[in-house]
Amino acid sequence: MWTMKDQYDVVVVGAGPGGSMAAKSLADRGVSVLLLEKRQEIGAAVRCAEVVGPRDVISRFIPVDESWVYHDLDEVWLYPPNGKQLRKDFPQCGMMVDRKRFDKALAIAAANAGAEVRTKTQAMGLERVRDGVRLTVRHMGREHKIDARAIVGADGVESMVGRWAGMKTALGLTKVFSSVQYQLTGIDGPPNVLQFYFGNEIAPGGYLWVFPKAGGTANVGVCVSPSCQKDLKALDYLDRFVQDRFPYASSVEMVMGGIPIGGPLKTFVSDNVALVGDAAHQVNPLSAGGIVNAMEAGILAGGTIADGLASGDVSERSLRAYDRKWFEESGNLYRLHARLRRLYYKLSDDDLNRLGDTLENLVMDRSPNDLYSLDFAKSVVKTMAWMIPKFRFMR
Ligand SMILES: Cc1cc2nc3c(=O)[nH]c(=O)nc-3n(C[C@H](O)[C@H](O)[C@H](O)COP(=O)(O)OP(=O)(O)OC[C@H]3O[C@@H](n4cnc5c(N)ncnc54)[C@H](O)[C@@H]3O)c2cc1C
Repeated sequence: MWTMKDQYDVVVVGAGPGGSMAAKSLADRGVSVLLLEKRQEIGAAVRCAEVVGPRDVISRFIPVDESWVYHDLDEVWLYPPNGKQLRKDFPQCGMMVDRKRFDKALAIAAANAGAEVRTKTQAMGLERVRDGVRLTVRHMGREHKIDARAIVGADGVESMVGRWAGMKTALGLTKVFSSVQYQLTGIDGPPNVLQFYFGNEIAPGGYLWVFPKAGGTANVGVCVSPSCQKDLKALDYLDRFVQDRFPYASSVEMVMGGIPIGGPLKTFVSDNVALVGDAAHQVNPLSAGGIVNAMEAGILAGGTIADGLASGDVSERSLRAYDRKWFEESGNLYRLHARLRRLYYKLSDDDLNRLGDTLENLVMDRSPNDLYSLDFAKSVVKTMAWMIPKFRFMR
């Protein structure tokens, strides 16, 4: 039987984008690292709408390979509840990818850097031992014990590693989106456009998306906030939309999942343990995107653990350098986006229509570069003054 060793410097649990990038950054530094994935195939089943950052962002992690790119995205169409179509050119704002191939390419990059990768191998529990952590893993019905100086918990939204390590990782109702998506076939439409629909009857607290793939297929999905939705479930909202807009389409794949949009955990670390990506709630609270965020966090966490191993200290105190770097880089943005998300929960359909009109007047005809000017910031503040009272009652 093909055996795993019983000792590594670091074990990374979960071979999603966060785990693979953590494993790669550790292996790049010469650390012995095992990357575990409980599923039999990395990347499958897909729980994602498959939009990632643009080429220049992704190529900071791995070279872009056309075999996993469907197409570049150049335009965004927004639909407020009144159905008005707001179109905005956004050249190279992202890429539509085949997430099965994309996740696998990231794991291959980790393996090429020197990480050992094992599929169908599930972490079952951990205990702290002198000098590190002992992980119990199950592979093909058999249990193994593996010792490591540190563990990276990159095990997604249902993360157990954080809980096993005694960290506070619970997700409240207002802090998670419930989402569901069909891959539909028989859909016409331009391939390079992201379409978003908003409204309390369409996607309470969240949004509905139509993201084109290839060959007349598209990912059509919805995310809703359980704290805003009424009696209906996410799937009811999606089915209603599909019945209305694409009654003749067929579904060739369906995915469901939770998205932790409440903002990051207070800390991502404890002694010998670091969490990354969805496990650390590092999804952007406004867009609900988490792929690139997980990859960035994986690199940061991996680098910090490698530093700690080099200096012989992977205690919580030492690993807090990862917290500090992450909050320095992203803390303010996430705080702002989490506030905007909470404000969004309070908007009625009339408010959303008004916001749509404001955006139409303010944003739609401007070039993307204009949106960073001081002039633009001033006109936003002036035109959106009607929203200020809604902010007043926000916690
Ligand atoms: C419907 C939906 C649509 C989305 N669309 C987008 C999008 O278009 N763009 C975007 O940026 N984000 C999107 N997201 C969010 C995005 O998918 C996540 O933020 C991203 O995958 C996080 O990466 P990760 O590496 O942290 O975790 P994951 O990708 O969830 O990977 C975690 C891995 O850990 C494995 N695992 C779990 N437990 C164990 C264990 N005990 N032992 C071994 N392995 C384990 C899992 O099998 C999984 O492979 C979407 C989410 C959903 C639900």
